[in-house]
Amino acid sequence: MRRDIVEASRKLAVSLDVVDRVCPSCDAWEPRVRCPTCGSLTVEHQSCPRCGLPGLGLCKNCNVETVSYKNKPVDLKQVLAAAVRRVGLAKSPEIIKGTKGLLNKTKTPEPLEKGMLRAGREVSVFKDGTIRFDATNAILTQFRPSEVGLSIEKAHLLGYEKDMEGKPLESPSQLCGLEVQDLVVPETCAQYLLKASKFLDDLLSSYYGLERFYNASKSEDLIGRLVVGLSPHTSVGVVGRIVGFTKASVCYAHPFWHAAKRRDCDGDEDSVSLLLDVLLNFSREFMPDRIGGLMDAPLLLSPLLNPAEIARQALNIENVSQLPIEFYEKTWQGAHPSEVESLVPTLNSNLGNGGEHWTIGFTHPTEDLDNGRLISSYKELPTMLDKVKEQLHLADQIVAVKGEEVAVKVLSTHILRDLVGNLRTFTSQRVRCTKCGSKPRRVPLGGTCHRCGGKLAATVFRGGVEKYLDVATEMVQRYNIREYYRQRLELIKVELAETFKALPVDREQQKLFVADFA
Ligand SMILES: [Zn+2]
Ligand SMILES: [Zn+2]
Ligand SMILES: [Zn+2]
Repeated sequence: MRRDIVEASRKLAVSLDVVDRVCPSCDAWEPRVRCPTCGSLTVEHQSCPRCGLPGLGLCKNCNVETVSYKNKPVDLKQVLAAAVRRVGLAKSPEIIKGTKGLLNKTKTPEPLEKGMLRAGREVSVFKDGTIRFDATNAILTQFRPSEVGLSIEKAHLLGYEKDMEGKPLESPSQLCGLEVQDLVVPETCAQYLLKASKFLDDLLSSYYGLERFYNASKSEDLIGRLVVGLSPHTSVGVVGRIVGFTKASVCYAHPFWHAAKRRDCDGDEDSVSLLLDVLLNFSREFMPDRIGGLMDAPLLLSPLLNPAEIARQALNIENVSQLPIEFYEKTWQGAHPSEVESLVPTLNSNLGNGGEHWTIGFTHPTEDLDNGRLISSYKELPTMLDKVKEQLHLADQIVAVKGEEVAVKVLSTHILRDLVGNLRTFTSQRVRCTKCGSKPRRVPLGGTCHRCGGKLAATVFRGGVEKYLDVATEMVQRYNIREYYRQRLELIKVELAETFKALPVDREQQKLFVADFA
C-alpha cells in the first residue's frame, strides 16, 4: 500500500511484469540496457502474453499482439543488496518509493540505484524520470543584483556588465534589464534544486563513475546553472538560467521565456528542473503507454529563445517609460484600444527593425522585489468557496469589472460543470472494500467484497457532489444573473434532490426476475 520497495523486499516472493531483455554474452535475463556483469548491450525479446511463444507482431497460436515483457519472479532483496553495493552505500535508505506497477509499453524499469540515491537526498521523481519543482509564473523585466542575492562579481561573470541605461554596472543596486532566458527562482525552489544537484552528483560519481558536476553546498552555488522550464500539457522544455532568488513563491522570468513555454504569463504553474537531470535521467521509454501519456514531458528541448518565434501577444508590452498626455485624455473618452495603439509603442515595433534591442520601460519604480505580496491569496484561501467569494468581492470594488460577468463566467465554466460532473460520477461510482482496499470493476451483486468478503463503501459522497451548491445559489441571488443560468441551477437542484431523496426505512429488497431458458 505504501509502494515502498524496501518493505516489498521483505516479502519472500515478488513477481513483476518487467521487460524481457537478455545479455547475449552471459546468456542471462537482464532488464537493463547494458549488462552490469560484462557491459554488453542487452537484446529485447518479444513473446505472446498468453502462451509465451516468442515472436514479433501477432502470435500464431492466439492471434494476439506480442509484448516485450514477461511476468518474472524477482528477488527484490538481492536486487536491493546489489544496488546498495554498486553505489557504495553502507545500507539502503529506510524507504524507497516505487510504483504499483510499470505503466510504460515495454515495462522498462529505471535502475534501482537512481531511486535509492534520490531517496537518500529526499527528492522525488516524476513519471518521466526527472525531478521537478512547480512554481507559479510571474513576469520580471528589470532587477537589481542586490534584490535577488547576486553579487556584482557574479553579475559580471553572467554577462551583466551594463545597467539598463548603458552605464557600467558598478554597484549591486543599479537596475539591469533581465536577459530573456534568465530566471529568479523562489528560495524554496533553490533549496529543492540544491538537493537535486546533490543527487545528480551522487549519481555521476557512484553510479556512472564520472566527476561530480555541481559541487553545490548552498543555494548561491546554483547561480548561473541551467534549468529546463516546462508547462503542463506541452512537450517542449525551454532552457533557462538561474540568476537569483526571491522570497515570493513565484518563478520570475522575462515575459518571452514564459511565452516560449506556451504560456501567456497569467499565473499558471510550470515546472523547473536542472538541465543535467533532464539530459541524464529523462527517458521516453518510461512514459505511460496510454492517451496523453507523452504529455508534460520534455520530449524536445529549446536551448535558444528566438523572440521572433514566440506568440505575438507576448510582444504586446509597451517599451516606453512614460505615456503621452493624449493617451490619458483618450482613456477619459473611453477610446477603443486600436485608436491609441500608435500612441504607445510596443515591442512589436522592435521586431521589424532587427529586433536586437529589447529594452522594456516602466512608469512606476519599486524598491525591492520581496516588498510585495510573497504568496498569492489564491493559494492562501483554504476553500474554493473562499476563493470565489474573494474574487467577487474584488470584482465589486473594481469599477472596470462587472460583478455579474465574473459570476456568470465562474458559474458557467466552473461551478455548474462541476456540479453536473460530480453528480454523474456519483451515480456511476465504483465501490471500495474497506478491508482489503480492492476496487471491483462493477458493484458485486452479493454486496460484499468478492476477494475477502469485507464491507463495501462508496468512493464518492453527497458532500463532495453538493459542495458548490451554496456558492452557486448565493451568486445567483446576489447578482442579476441571466435567466438561462438561473434555470440551469434550478434544474440541477431538482436533480440533486431526486438523487439524494431520503429513502423509506421499511423498504424491502425487490426480487430480480431471471428468465428461465432451460
Ligand atoms: Zn553480460
Ligand atoms: Zn500465443
Ligand atoms: Zn476485500
